[in-house]
Amino acid sequence: MDDILGGFEAYMNPSLGRTYRFMGLDHAEHTASGAVVVDQDGSEYLDLAGGYGVFVQGYRHPRIVKAAHEQLDLMPLSSRVLVSPRQVELAERLATVTPGDLTYSFFCNSGTEAVEAALKFARGSTGRPTIISTEGAFHGKTYGSLSVSGRDLYQTPFKPLVPDVIRVPYGNLEALRAVMSDRVAAVIVEPIQGEGGVIVPPDDYLPGIRGLCDEYGALMIADEVQTGMGHTGRLFAIEHSGVVPDLLCLAKALGGGVMPIGAVVGRPNAWALFDSSPLIHTSTFGGNPLACRVALEALNVTIEEKLPQRAAELGAWLMPQLQELRVMHPELIREVRGKGLMIGLEFAAPGIGGMVMSELFQRRMLAVYTLNNERVIRLIPPLVIELSQLQDALGRLQEALDVVETIKEDLV
Ligand code: PLP
Repeated sequence: MDDILGGFEAYMNPSLGRTYRFMGLDHAEHTASGAVVVDQDGSEYLDLAGGYGVFVQGYRHPRIVKAAHEQLDLMPLSSRVLVSPRQVELAERLATVTPGDLTYSFFCNSGTEAVEAALKFARGSTGRPTIISTEGAFHGKTYGSLSVSGRDLYQTPFKPLVPDVIRVPYGNLEALRAVMSDRVAAVIVEPIQGEGGVIVPPDDYLPGIRGLCDEYGALMIADEVQTGMGHTGRLFAIEHSGVVPDLLCLAKALGGGVMPIGAVVGRPNAWALFDSSPLIHTSTFGGNPLACRVALEALNVTIEEKLPQRAAELGAWLMPQLQELRVMHPELIREVRGKGLMIGLEFAAPGIGGMVMSELFQRRMLAVYTLNNERVIRLIPPLVIELSQLQDALGRLQEALDVVETIKEDLV
């Protein structure tokens, strides 16, 4: 098919296709490596969106691709009757690299499934109904995850949602304390809100949640689907706070940019539901040998290549440059914030962010706005990106801002 976007509109999602066209995103991808995506015409795009956090190790990291080939030739999917060694190896590695006594792993295929599992494990292990979540949160789009997410736009058409969910403002411990009770099974929180607009909470927030959960006998769920695997400067963002959650959700970059995989890692208290029924939560494809072998190699590459450290160092270089851009364009950029190489640029209006994205695309650079806050463009590049590529990206951003500066009156 020559007209790929036309095909997308004809056979997939006409409305989204029109949006792509409007944004100037009318080229189809063909191949990629490192931090560069190549389209069907051979044009190269510098990728600062990193698949919304999937490509920590870059596109097609040679070690991860090799691991996939080896497992493909051995046994990609499990018999599901015999135990798969690849699952056990990955679970053991996760128990070692996650904080505290996070011990057991359940594997699935995506971030939303990891959250679904965590919610069930929390209710099932505590015998309590209520889940507390935060405004602006994004936990996925299946029913349970959607029910604990924080944007009405995605929830309203699908009501009634899962009951007994209370939403409180993110970053506000007093609001949380006010709704805690002995009915609360869990508090679910992103250590840094990704789709909410890259919101970094106050330093005492995560320890405060841990304290309240302990006081009321509730579980703490850390959703690290986006923050996990290095972008914030630590392998898991929760490590900045010293807190050990009861359940840790992972996906995206756990698959090394090669395979879809999700995981929930839990402390023994969060695994109590399996005591009465070992098959109480299962998934046919979850934990398949191909995904687990790839995820193990992805973890090894992330740790051995010191990618979290690289995120911290490159972020420390990039952040002041972006702050300088904010000073140069005070009417366009309201705030620059984030940790490591998970950075949000908040614009004065959604139209400005959209125009900057479009101008960046014309300059062959990929960046995306955050799903629950369209005023924010997030930069979350592969952590293998070179300093020279970041310098290049900064130059393209500067050019895009200069253009948008001349037409900003039409966009507000
Ligand atoms: N949780 C967080 C924090 C996310 O950022 C996302 C996706 O962006 C999800 C869950 C859902 O992941 P998935 O799209 O793989 O279902």
